[in-house]
Amino acid sequence: MRISETLRCHTSIRIGGDVEYFVVPFTAESLVAAVEILEDAGLKWRVLGAGTNILASDEETCAVISTKHLTGIWFTEKGVIAEAGVIVDRLIELAILKGLSGLEFASGLPGTLGGAVTMNAGAFGGEMAGLVQSAECLMPDMRTVKLDRNEMQFGYRTSAFRRAGAVILRVSLKMTKNDISSIKARRREILNCRILKQPLQLPSAGSVFIRPMADFYVGSKIEGLGFKGYRVGDAEVSTKHAGFIVNKGNASQRDVLILIEKLRKAVYEDTGHWLQTELDIW
Ligand SMILES: Cc1cc2nc3c(=O)[nH]c(=O)nc-3n(C[C@H](O)[C@H](O)[C@H](O)COP(=O)(O)OP(=O)(O)OC[C@H]3O[C@@H](n4cnc5c(N)ncnc54)[C@H](O)[C@@H]3O)c2cc1C
Repeated sequence: MRISETLRCHTSIRIGGDVEYFVVPFTAESLVAAVEILEDAGLKWRVLGAGTNILASDEETCAVISTKHLTGIWFTEKGVIAEAGVIVDRLIELAILKGLSGLEFASGLPGTLGGAVTMNAGAFGGEMAGLVQSAECLMPDMRTVKLDRNEMQFGYRTSAFRRAGAVILRVSLKMTKNDISSIKARRREILNCRILKQPLQLPSAGSVFIRPMADFYVGSKIEGLGFKGYRVGDAEVSTKHAGFIVNKGNASQRDVLILIEKLRKAVYEDTGHWLQTELDIW
């Protein structure tokens, strides 16, 4: 455990204040033990994956449990069992070596498996819900349970884990055997698409808003309303993809929230849709 860590160093958008207790367990069992200690002490805590979907507070956060060291991976004939802190893109690289296909839609996804399952991350026509078979998790009442896929209530960027505030410890994914060169080709295609379209050189938390409906492209709408490059402090609507807000230096949570409200209001006045945020505001 580290005392007084700065959350800014653990979020992809490089925003976040100090954390009083930053806990980095090396096993799922010690994560559960850490939660028990924090609960017994009456301390408010949150779980952090790779921090790629979080807009953290500029103020101090009490306790954060990071899954970054929960990185066990076990391949089977039919897929993989992996711990929550495994980076999804790394898992894809390893699955390719085994000739296992199914996850490549998520190529380039910078988050952890736990974060991706709880958010039901999706891209390029796939989503995590399509692969998850079961998951072990810590429920808010401190029971460790194994949920089957039919209990996970996946929705657009949400799941039963997210709604309940459960911590995912381990996940089993079903994958299929495929020709390695065709999996690699699909991965390359998706990575190229990300490089071409997304502002990967600058700190961001990915897409800011959820699509209000299937064929509503939020980035194109924001661009059409003339907001590309619009700034509040150091928070800027990306000039490459208007669905992203990037940190041009020293942006604060407040800057980003003001910018979000400005964009929401403009889109609402134009379309009647009040946009919901995809990123998690801490
Ligand atoms: C450049 C870029 C591109 C992106 N592209 C996509 C994309 O194509 N599709 C997409 O869906 N998202 C995308 N994202 C957003 C993000 O990568 C995903 O939502 C990812 O799944 C979040 O994982 P994480 O580990 O970073 O979660 P974090 O940001 O650390 O956490 C997100 C939420 O999940 C919770 N959480 C984290 N780990 C666990 C766990 N083990 N158990 C329970 N809850 C947990 C956190 O408490 C928090 O509420 C992108 C982000 C960036 C920066």
